Amino acid sequence: MKPLPIAIIGAGAAGLYAGYLLRQQGIDCRIFEAAGRYGGRLGKLEGFADYPLDLGAEWLHGKKSLLKAFIKQSGTQITKDRSEEWWWFQGGFTEDLPRDLEAALEDQAGAPDLSYLDYATQQGFGPEYRYLIEMLAGDLGADARHLSVKWNAVEFENWHSGSKDYKFRQTYFDLIDTCIAAHVRDAILLDTPIVRVDYRGAQVQLTDRTGQVYTAEQVLITVPITVLQAGDIEFVPPLPAAQAEAFQRIGMDPAMKVFLKFRERFYHDNIAGGQICAAYADESVGKKGQDHVLMAFLMGHQAEALAALGSDELIAEALLAELDAMYAGRASAAFLAAHVIDWTAHPFIRGGYSYSKVGIGDARRVAAQPVANRLFFAGEAMNGRGHHQTVHGAMETAAEQVAALLRGRLA
Ligand SMILES: Cc1cc2nc3c(=O)[nH]c(=O)nc-3n(C[C@H](O)[C@H](O)[C@H](O)COP(=O)(O)OP(=O)(O)OC[C@H]3O[C@@H](n4cnc5c(N)ncnc54)[C@H](O)[C@@H]3O)c2cc1C
Repeated sequence: MKPLPIAIIGAGAAGLYAGYLLRQQGIDCRIFEAAGRYGGRLGKLEGFADYPLDLGAEWLHGKKSLLKAFIKQSGTQITKDRSEEWWWFQGGFTEDLPRDLEAALEDQAGAPDLSYLDYATQQGFGPEYRYLIEMLAGDLGADARHLSVKWNAVEFENWHSGSKDYKFRQTYFDLIDTCIAAHVRDAILLDTPIVRVDYRGAQVQLTDRTGQVYTAEQVLITVPITVLQAGDIEFVPPLPAAQAEAFQRIGMDPAMKVFLKFRERFYHDNIAGGQICAAYADESVGKKGQDHVLMAFLMGHQAEALAALGSDELIAEALLAELDAMYAGRASAAFLAAHVIDWTAHPFIRGGYSYSKVGIGDARRVAAQPVANRLFFAGEAMNGRGHHQTVHGAMETAAEQVAALLRGRLA
């Protein structure tokens, strides 16, 4: 069989966008996707509420990115998220903490390489701040014991897409589906996990889990960093030791979203600081509909602890008990239904999104190095320019690596 010019592994935001860019250049490609659907960490939940919900990525973080043109062309409706943050602190709600925790933890590029939790403790924040620290770290994709104060600040110094967050009237998935995936759907092979990449010869050989072999001139790998860390794809020969070591230095912790539907809205816009779940958000922001949905956003050990309960009913019960304690029993009284999405249990994702782990240093740059002009690496975790852990950041890496790959073809 004639080799494919380019094979892409993974049909998330990065893989889809890479396919789209190659098609624009008139270059043929095939996108191998392990799961039975494309989109990766983008997904849409319909029918639970009278508006669609985002199973994964939900907020557009800043308007100044390569998505701007797609949003404009497609007429996608977005709304600035103006919702307020309420801290659950010492048994009550407050908008103002006695000490500014965010200021103490953010923009600290000169700090020692300590975790959010250790650094806050060193700065004199007591146990009463513990779950507020978890909320701040969770927003950045991490357990507070693992996120580096220093490297998080260093990496975010390069952030340039804007500081405001926006919600989609429809979903983030719809934007990517309509503007990007629609152009490459026929190139996607679903249910095709690649388990081996052999780049010894002039052509790269890809083997899927059924043993089927595909040949390509160049390969773009866009799988989550957890998949590379676990060695789910065998590289022959093994990747350079420094690159394999760099994969391990990038963080990605467990993640879960739980949508809770209620008869009435008894809750604040955003709740920060719960011991069971450190962050809850009102899902109706930016949507057209009447239903009341609160989303519990769990990261790290909180996501693990809820997953260990073993059933969606028990997970919902645990969250309702916490909300009942905050709102004098109103949660259980108004509860209608729950929907749980455990991203850690997804066999080809296994967590939330990458973050600046203690000790990360230059790992993203090393991890993203092309190998032998035949293997290229993209995906949110490979973004060393500040936009890791976002959809637009994943797409940026695709654009960079497609350019590198095309330069390599001319060389
Ligand atoms: C709960 C949650 C909330 C988030 N919220 C936001 C947000 O509000 N805003 C934002 O910008 N970002 C958010 N993100 C992050 C965002 O979703 C990701 O950064 C982005 O979607 C990652 O795209 P990607 O292409 O790098 O990876 P992915 O979307 O993970 O795509 C990789 C693909 O590779 C496939 N794959 C894995 N192994 C193999 C294999 N062996 N062979 C073939 N295919 C394989 C996977 O199935 C997957 O489809 C969130 C993520 C999560 C989980």
